[in-house]
Amino acid sequence: MPSTIAYIGLGSNQGDRLAMIFAALKLLDEMPGVVMGILSQIIETAPLGGPVNQENYLNCVVQANFTGTADELLANLQAVENHLGRRRKVKWGPRNIDLDLLLFGDEIIDKPHLQVPHPQMHLRRFVMEPLVQIAPDAIHPQLVRTMKQLLAELEDQQ
Ligand code: ATP
Ligand code: CA
Ligand code: CA
Repeated sequence: MPSTIAYIGLGSNQGDRLAMIFAALKLLDEMPGVVMGILSQIIETAPLGGPVNQENYLNCVVQANFTGTADELLANLQAVENHLGRRRKVKWGPRNIDLDLLLFGDEIIDKPHLQVPHPQMHLRRFVMEPLVQIAPDAIHPQLVRTMKQLLAELEDQQ
């Protein structure tokens, strides 16, 4: 089976945030079919949306080579979240770990449980800044622009 270059966004704003990010990276690395690639810087960002008075987030993006389907990778991400005891009651509320599948090669997926590219990614600086560090020339298959261009457009709007 061919392998696909995927980009995964990680976020944590509860508990020992850095430990959560590293634990998630280690668990991902141990998943069958996953070969970890380059990691962005880990940045601290203010929460957007959801309840007020949440902790800041730590966010980063990692590249991974995955042998398998996007559905299988999503299942792996959810297994990592579950393993780390993700609990979250409120939409966009605090969570100890969040793993989002941002890009899966050049695939466009629109299923109820999985949309790729992640529908919000190009609107979020906390995603696009770390992503541009590791994949400036990767192309968004729906918007047909590079990550670098999408970040520049996002900055122009603000
Ligand atoms: P957002 O997706 O806006 O960042 P969120 O991360 O808080 O919000 P979750 O509660 O973590 O949302 O996920 C809700 C559902 O999103 C999951 O059950 C999953 O099936 C679905 N989902 C759809 N597309 C994706 C994707 N690309 N990556 C991760 N989950 C996805
Ligand atoms: Ca998310
Ligand atoms: Ca998520």
